[in-house]
Amino acid sequence: MANGTKNTWRARTVRTVTAFLPVSEKRVGECVNCGACCKLPNVCPFLKYNSDGKSYCEIYPIRPLNCRKYPRTKSELITADTCGFRFE
Ligand code: SF4
Repeated sequence: MANGTKNTWRARTVRTVTAFLPVSEKRVGECVNCGACCKLPNVCPFLKYNSDGKSYCEIYPIRPLNCRKYPRTKSELITADTCGFRFE
């Protein structure tokens, strides 16, 4: 995991309670459907996979704000190995 941020329930709680804040203007890139953020810290029951191996969210239109905005800040990004987003 990058950035020193741990994949913990505490980190998940922080993401959840701060999810109403705006996404950093320094974020660039796009989601490449790796599904890594859907396993923080446990595998989400709504995480599914297409036949091509790409992940998708079974409740995408109504997914929670913290999922919608991940990674909202550089410090939140703990899936940098596979995530299509990065911070300048
Ligand atoms: S970790 Fe990044 S690229 Fe992967 S599903 Fe989440 S937002 Fe998309």
